[in-house]
Amino acid sequence: MKYFDYAATTPPYPEVIQSMAEIMQKHFGNPSSLHQYGEEADRLVRHAKEVTAQILGVKPSEIIWTSGATESNNFALKGAAMRGGRTQGHIITTRIEHPSVYECCRQLEQIGFDVSYIDPASDGIVRVEDIQNALRPDTIIVSIMHVNNETGAIQPIQQLADWLKKVQSRTLIHVDGVQGFGKLPVNIAQWNIDLYSLSAHKLRGPKGTGLLYVKQGTELFPLLAGGGQENGYRSGTENVAGIVGMTKALRLASTEQSALSERLLVWSEQLKIAIQSIEGLVLTNPSVSARHIVHFSYPGMKSEVILHSLEQQGCIVSTQSACSSRKAEPSRVLLAMGVEREHAASGIRISLGDQHTKQDIEHLIIALHQTVTQLRPLERR
Ligand code: PMP
Repeated sequence: MKYFDYAATTPPYPEVIQSMAEIMQKHFGNPSSLHQYGEEADRLVRHAKEVTAQILGVKPSEIIWTSGATESNNFALKGAAMRGGRTQGHIITTRIEHPSVYECCRQLEQIGFDVSYIDPASDGIVRVEDIQNALRPDTIIVSIMHVNNETGAIQPIQQLADWLKKVQSRTLIHVDGVQGFGKLPVNIAQWNIDLYSLSAHKLRGPKGTGLLYVKQGTELFPLLAGGGQENGYRSGTENVAGIVGMTKALRLASTEQSALSERLLVWSEQLKIAIQSIEGLVLTNPSVSARHIVHFSYPGMKSEVILHSLEQQGCIVSTQSACSSRKAEPSRVLLAMGVEREHAASGIRISLGDQHTKQDIEHLIIALHQTVTQLRPLERR
């Protein structure tokens, strides 16, 4: 089987598995304990934070370990909205966010906050002018993703942050960086953003570990009350092995980013050309998209049918984002782009990673041809 679902999750680096196993065996202490076992675990967590801060170009005190990007996104939004015990105010986000932002905003609406959901243009990219038009004096936070997890569309982070910090610097800006890091250059300091979420398992690190960058001086309501770990921002005994594993994965991913980007460009172009040449398939990728995601639809055919046919040909792909793929509804992201329901219901996401080879891509192209040949008699016209 060839795995082409790297945007859903990735196989951990062998170095990550090894170092995590070692930590669980040898350094199982609780970082809050005062004895030597605790001190050793605390040293590991602090060292991981220093290394991670260096990779991201931020201060160690600005990093909060979490259980993954779902928590980081919830913490950024709820933490910002509810600071100082508030239950009112305005939030801006987009219609194409991951459910961990989108559904979190829906919950905040139930509590009493107003949320503006900005639609992207037909190319999957949200226009800064549309966010500008939605800004209000009481806007607490603008939350937007760097790269969309279904279409790969790259959002205008720098442009948005430059404008926002000029016109209303008290409004926070949060970036869900999950699908961008390791694929595109990331510069938190240059972007001048307040909050940034990452998840380890999208970067060949462990599941259940992530981080939230919180710019120094940013006040957030802590979601998890308890022993006051993570400078009081996030209580709970630290996931020492996960944190060390994530740091290793971040280091490898950031070192390899530019070389990987070159390879991904070649492969994604090859795939896009092949898709465009197959009668019946429609490429959905916007022109400005990250190189690891190729999205197409096969109107008249259900996504699931295409997925299973490709699986029979030895290729694992995805229907929409992993978190939404069990829902019967067509993708919210595609519908927001103005894609017709029938096209949206027949979408397939291919996502690539560093372990792929030229032969894997060739295998996938043959599988795409075979799938369409096999399914053509079933097309609903
Ligand atoms: N944001 C984006 C853009 C994602 O793709 C994902 C993972 N599907 C998440 C957030 C959630 O990350 P996690 O799985 O670590 O909770």
